Amino acid sequence: MAKRPPRGGYRRAPYDAYDFVPFPKNVKRDKVPGHHIIHPDLLTGILTLHLHTVTPLFISSGQVVLSEDLGLKPGGVVQAHYRIRGQLAIPASSLKGAVRSIAEAVSPSCLGVKRPRRRDLPDAFRRPCTRRAACPACTLFGMGGNKNKAYLGQVRFEDALLQEGGTMLYRLPPLYRPRPGAPVYRDRNRRYKGRKFYKHGRPRPAGKGGESEVIRPDSQLIGQVAFTNLTIEQLGLLFYALGLEGRFLLKLGGGKPVCLGSLRTEPVRLVLRDERAAFLGDTHDTQVETIWQGNALNTEVRRYITEARQNDYILSQQAEALERVLRFDPNALPECPTSAY
Ligand SMILES: [Zn+2]
Repeated sequence: MAKRPPRGGYRRAPYDAYDFVPFPKNVKRDKVPGHHIIHPDLLTGILTLHLHTVTPLFISSGQVVLSEDLGLKPGGVVQAHYRIRGQLAIPASSLKGAVRSIAEAVSPSCLGVKRPRRRDLPDAFRRPCTRRAACPACTLFGMGGNKNKAYLGQVRFEDALLQEGGTMLYRLPPLYRPRPGAPVYRDRNRRYKGRKFYKHGRPRPAGKGGESEVIRPDSQLIGQVAFTNLTIEQLGLLFYALGLEGRFLLKLGGGKPVCLGSLRTEPVRLVLRDERAAFLGDTHDTQVETIWQGNALNTEVRRYITEARQNDYILSQQAEALERVLRFDPNALPECPTSAY
């Protein structure tokens, strides 16, 4: 990764590297359910999922190390991939960020944390969410603010750990400026166009420059997402945003404009706590759980997503736009740009 701007400044990614999902007309807001009491009528549980790398994945540890110390081709000084307790991983925060931005885009949700100036926004987005009136994304993933306003959200991600595969060295094209403050773009009339997402494509490493340790394609990671007190629609929105229906791939980590970080997800196991059974039954101490795996789990996941679509937690126009941007068709993949001074 480039440490300082190259001569001539940064280049912008070419326009067709990304596209927009239009804003919905309204933001739907409700009181948040909270975490302290498990409601018997709501859904609480844990989903385990696999994440398969389709293109190289790079999440920087922020550390520069010798390549031989990583067990890679000796003689290089490389940017190391993120690890947790020595294990290659995707940090929970990266996963949560990617999933949140999809959930925000397809549901009647506010603009989340990276809020541009309010006066330029469509009316429905000017008011921030609060615990009394939170949009679907803020309810699921939380909201910032001071002590009284901050809210953790009903969903908790764990770091996803590498299970199969490994790393390789990769030269990331360095010339694309990260634009953290600009998740949305304006049209000629200064109106915001919608939310920006990078498309998937075929990555091409740079011919020269520093190397990074990336998780190579065809590797597999395992992750967990715990949720508390969700409605069927909210859980459906979470499952959709995790990409579990297979209609699109997730994209995360560094090098999104140059086609890194494409991930296919797959549900492995769903455990739902049944508080009512635990309460009504004579099993006072044992918690009653229902476990789904295999085909039954896939059917269950789709059932929740269908509920979310039917109850306007997944908006068809926004979801179709998102699926157009994030779909992964191996037979029609654009080539990604490589660096050129
Ligand atoms: Zn919100």
